[in-house]
Amino acid sequence: MQFYLDGYKPGDPDILPEARGAANRSAGLPDAVDVLVVGSGPAGTVLAAQLSTFPNISTRLVERRGGPLELGQADGVACRTVEMFEAFGMGAKLIREANWVNETVFWRPSQEDRSRIARTGRIQDVEDGLSEFPHVIVNQARMQEYLLEYMRKSPTRLEPDYGLEFVRLKVDAEGEYPVVATLRDVESGAERSIRARYVVGCDGARSAVRQSIGAEPHGDYANHAWGVMDMLAVTDFPDIRLKAAIQSADEGNILLIPREGGYLVRLYVDLGDVDLSDRGAARQKYTAEKIIETAQRVLRPYTLDVRDIVWFSVYEVGQRLTDRFDDVPPEQAASRLPRVFIAGDACHTHSAKAGQGMNVSMQDAFNLGWKLVCVLDGRARPELLRTYSVERHAVAQVLIDFDKEWSKIMASPPLDPKRPELGGVDPAELQAYFVRSGRYTAGVATHYPPATFLTAESTHQDLARASRSARVSTRRPSCASLTPSRCTSAMRPVPTAPGASTPLPMRAPSDCARSRTS
Ligand SMILES: Cc1cc2nc3c(=O)[nH]c(=O)nc-3n(C[C@H](O)[C@H](O)[C@H](O)COP(=O)(O)OP(=O)(O)OC[C@H]3O[C@@H](n4cnc5c(N)ncnc54)[C@H](O)[C@@H]3O)c2cc1C
Repeated sequence: MQFYLDGYKPGDPDILPEARGAANRSAGLPDAVDVLVVGSGPAGTVLAAQLSTFPNISTRLVERRGGPLELGQADGVACRTVEMFEAFGMGAKLIREANWVNETVFWRPSQEDRSRIARTGRIQDVEDGLSEFPHVIVNQARMQEYLLEYMRKSPTRLEPDYGLEFVRLKVDAEGEYPVVATLRDVESGAERSIRARYVVGCDGARSAVRQSIGAEPHGDYANHAWGVMDMLAVTDFPDIRLKAAIQSADEGNILLIPREGGYLVRLYVDLGDVDLSDRGAARQKYTAEKIIETAQRVLRPYTLDVRDIVWFSVYEVGQRLTDRFDDVPPEQAASRLPRVFIAGDACHTHSAKAGQGMNVSMQDAFNLGWKLVCVLDGRARPELLRTYSVERHAVAQVLIDFDKEWSKIMASPPLDPKRPELGGVDPAELQAYFVRSGRYTAGVATHYPPATFLTAESTHQDLARASRSARVSTRRPSCASLTPSRCTSAMRPVPTAPGASTPLPMRAPSDCARSRTS
């Protein structure tokens, strides 16, 4: 990372000089803000952290909960997300603390005795040269804490306003702050309104902001359920410290994720489909004891003696995609500019099997963040904001399609070579699909087609033939393949030029010469 742009100053360079007025930030909400962010999950904290860097942009982050998330939920951090954290100057800190997913193993019923599992494959998780950073595992609550800390040290010293719930909004036809949002104090029930130039709903799968703009999620009506458990256990399973996709003949399947810190491990136990009309039934039916018993049966002949359960949840989610990610219906696209946006789970929900939820949510926010900054800072016209929904809706559609395919393969019974007529998935086929999807799951295959003025046709694609990654409108090549000086200029934002959909780094890129495995 780079610092001391304005000369040397003693002290921690991560703590940026405080903007005038930041210390006098009133305890209550102001009457009007530039951006109101609703929800402090991965999407909301990324967006608020980005905006907090700019002293001339007033931002508020409201959160229904009484304080920050402390435990649980997602944990997979794709290479691309670590790159994003590096843009905040936090990449090195993140990978020091994380568990690195360098390899993935596959276990299937043994050919000799199908009541036992046997290892059928061990592969490199991320292909060489894809990113300067590894694929890692870090608790979602911790990821959010990093971003909250960044906000605290930013020039605006931004802190979330906890215990405030978004209720509804309306958008006036005119005015400097046309969006009027109503918020409710969770404790007292008192309502108050706040005006904003822009409101962003990062308020999760049951988003009230989404509802208030009339956007609708479409997709499967059945939810899929997983028992998710972070635990300390004694086991003789030899791959307990490797990411493992384990499929038994008759007892179901497990995704095993070794956790940061070297001791904890997470098990995702597939519980199958649950009817939406019977919402919550899976939570009652599947206790922690039942999940452990299932895991013990899947792992046979190995033993699993659970000593401590750190976090347990039955996570139910369907594959759903919202029709648009802003408040402008298609018939008004030419006449109105967006004022309200949604990001993350408010836009798309899907299985946890490919570890994409937190990553894609953060990437939505990052895409929107630099655009809001450019518009509010007067560096780009507000038309730029139209590209957010177009670009990210396309990405979410690819995510849902991928998730459907991957979930189906993972949920299929393993093929019994002695009884192929029963059907099922060949372990080699599953492993090959995993490898083929590697670029996508690492987050580096995002491609924005020339659907907006930001992205160009591939007319001059032949000029980039030296680099495998340099496909027009795709993420720029991995820093590992560039010299430090070229890297620095390559990653500087050029917001109005073709390819500008690359997010605006909050700080200059770091030591670009570092290799992925250093
Ligand atoms: C219970 C649960 C368990 C999960 N487990 C896993 C898992 O094991 N593995 C995995 O990969 N993914 C898991 N996920 C999914 C993953 O956490 C999400 O994909 C990711 O968190 C999406 O980020 P987000 O910021 O869009 O939404 P969220 O993380 O859902 O954050 C939304 C935030 O908005 C707040 N909020 C909601 N409504 C309002 C309102 N009206 N006003 C103010 N604030 C509001 C919420 O309190 C929350 O803090 C889980 C999700 C949940 C909800």
